[in-house]
Amino acid sequence: MKKIRILNLEIDNWSKQELLDNLKSGVVFTPNVDHIVKLQKDSEFVKSYSIGDYKICDSQIVMYASKFLGTPIKEKISGSDLLPAFCKHHRNNEDIKIFLLGAAQGVAKKAQKQINHKIGRKIVVNSYSPPFGFEKDEAECTKIIDLINNSDATVLVIGLGAPKQEKWLYKYKDDLKFIKIFMALGATIDFEAGNVKRAPKWMSEIGLEWLFRLLCEPKRLWKRYLLDDVPFILLILKQRLSMYMNKNSKDTQQTLLADKY
Ligand code: UDP
Repeated sequence: MKKIRILNLEIDNWSKQELLDNLKSGVVFTPNVDHIVKLQKDSEFVKSYSIGDYKICDSQIVMYASKFLGTPIKEKISGSDLLPAFCKHHRNNEDIKIFLLGAAQGVAKKAQKQINHKIGRKIVVNSYSPPFGFEKDEAECTKIIDLINNSDATVLVIGLGAPKQEKWLYKYKDDLKFIKIFMALGATIDFEAGNVKRAPKWMSEIGLEWLFRLLCEPKRLWKRYLLDDVPFILLILKQRLSMYMNKNSKDTQQTLLADKY
């Protein structure tokens, strides 16, 4: 199966290698439980998500859900694994020139240095960490667009968290004339800079990456993981029982039934 439906979202069923071999242009989004829960209510987020050409599974919990629904996704490709794999894959491909946008001041520059050092060439050509609230400031957004357009970059990695990064791309993607590949990768820039620690592999493999992140940044993340994302379980149960409906995608129930038979 090429696409796997989880609630009102179709996830692309690629392996990491298939994605790396096929990704020549387009927009990559990395849905996890939090994105899927937000997609239930936020119609602007749903609209922004429509520009995603590759929607790959970022979460072990979503992997479990897909299994439970009888349509297993073949591989988890988290954004934070994708960026290092992408850079390694294109180590000798001079057409790939990356711009990093996001994270707190100074962090994107640190990530730029670390990645270039690891890869052994200037694969990240420039980077910028915008000030808090920049998305509401047209002049700041214009400045960012100019910075990217003048950077020689062909790939944009945007790490502003969801739904900000997807909404920003929806609004400004067409102004970025020279970018061929857009990747919205959440906290990946922080991880690459070594600013925030990633969960140990065993934890992310059994679906506990969220717990590690919660323990590292409780103030910022408690609401997301302990309150907002909990309804996901009930919604998946509903889908399993063919009782899931969503006003953001009127045909969801029909599609689910069509997929089943
Ligand atoms: N961030 C940012 N600007 C903002 C809000 C957030 O650069 O206005 C960055 C923040 O520094 C962090 C990332 O966005 O690096 C937040 O990632 P989050 O944990 O929400 O994303 P996830 O990896 O869970 O998708």
